[in-house]
Amino acid sequence: MTRRPSASRIRRVGLSDDHSQLFELVSQFCQDRLEPHVDLAEANTEFPRDAFTELGRMGVLNLPYADVIDPQTPPVPHRVSLQVLEEIASSWLAIALGLSVHHLACAPLIKFGSPEQLSLWQSWVIGGQTLGAYCLSEPHSGSDAAALSSTAVRDGDSYILNGTKSWITHGGVADFYTVFARTSPQKTSGISCFFIPADTPGLEFGKPESKMALNSSPTSNIHLTDVRIPVFNRIGQEGQGFAIALSSLDVGRLGIAACAVGLAQSALGIANLYSQERTAFDLHIADFQGIGFMLADMATSIHASRCVYTDAATLLDLGESISREASMAKLLSTDTAMVVTTNAVQILGGNGYTSDYRTERYMREAKVLQIVEGTNQIQRVVISRELRKDQ
Ligand SMILES: Cc1cc2nc3c(=O)[nH]c(=O)nc-3n(C[C@H](O)[C@H](O)[C@H](O)COP(=O)(O)OP(=O)(O)OC[C@H]3O[C@@H](n4cnc5c(N)ncnc54)[C@H](O)[C@@H]3O)c2cc1C
Repeated sequence: MTRRPSASRIRRVGLSDDHSQLFELVSQFCQDRLEPHVDLAEANTEFPRDAFTELGRMGVLNLPYADVIDPQTPPVPHRVSLQVLEEIASSWLAIALGLSVHHLACAPLIKFGSPEQLSLWQSWVIGGQTLGAYCLSEPHSGSDAAALSSTAVRDGDSYILNGTKSWITHGGVADFYTVFARTSPQKTSGISCFFIPADTPGLEFGKPESKMALNSSPTSNIHLTDVRIPVFNRIGQEGQGFAIALSSLDVGRLGIAACAVGLAQSALGIANLYSQERTAFDLHIADFQGIGFMLADMATSIHASRCVYTDAATLLDLGESISREASMAKLLSTDTAMVVTTNAVQILGGNGYTSDYRTERYMREAKVLQIVEGTNQIQRVVISRELRKDQ
């Protein structure tokens, strides 16, 4: 038995009528188009490309760029687009995470692209039909991303790229790759950012990683062998790549926080329902204070996590810098998702340990959120570094 907890119980404040309609549309899509397929696709390792295509048609794939696509459209605040991501994550984490990664892949072009690059690629990249991948990590540089060793060597009007990027979400299925490579030896100021369409000769994809969860989201190595691209495909200045990578990651971390809250909310929903149906010692298990208090703590942590990420999003919408708050949101929300999903399994007892219920998958899925886009140790590094700036 799996049931989707009612999203209508989540009180979302400050939404305009348009945004409320958007939530209804997305919630319906989750119910009708994602819920019936998620279990099988995760079990069979099937990438749901068609779902991304449909989200593209609905205008949801590129929600943070709605005003870029159509200048007549008012911008959708991050506060809203992230809660839409949360809603999708409550049905299918891999799709929400894929959307977040796609936004990350688009951000360098949209924020740092030249007018010529934007006029050539913008509508293709954020038109709703294409999917991007963000290629920063390498086999020997994950947390220490600036230690990357892939190279981009200038050759006349071209760059020639060589190296291996690892752990790339949408590796082999993306339409374009936003790649960070070294143009000079200086650690951070020697990195540049490149836009590489998927059909560029010299790109080769490793076999998808066999993962603990998120099986419907392909993750693979990308080998770059003498990949020749025009100098035109460099985004930003030579040496600006690391700053571009970090500026995109702040928003990306809020995306992961929203995904974590959606996942935790679903786990709570299942545990809550189960506890009101399952009996032991002639009582519903929800009537035992030990279980009721667990559920109360789970609900409180989820609510706190939602408040922290939406607060950071509000600051972002006001044009503030949010490195500290984005790291806090990512740290709190993903640690919360880990605790909540683990407790949900506990509340379901033996049933929680089986694939008859989604809670065991949620628990496996929560783990990856503590690792991607900067492990939670790295979020603490960022927060403590920011604290040292306080007088
Ligand atoms: C499913 C999945 C999808 C991914 N998708 C992408 C993607 O699309 N694009 C991309 O570029 N990358 C992607 N990644 C890579 C991900 O961002 C890295 O795995 C992550 O940044 C950690 O790097 P690492 O695995 O090399 O771990 P390491 O950096 O080797 O870290 C190992 C351990 O040491 C700890 N550690 C390292 N430095 C410190 C420190 N200073 N203080 C305290 N502890 C420290 C870490 O927290 C961790 O526990 C993905 C990873 C996964 C699992």
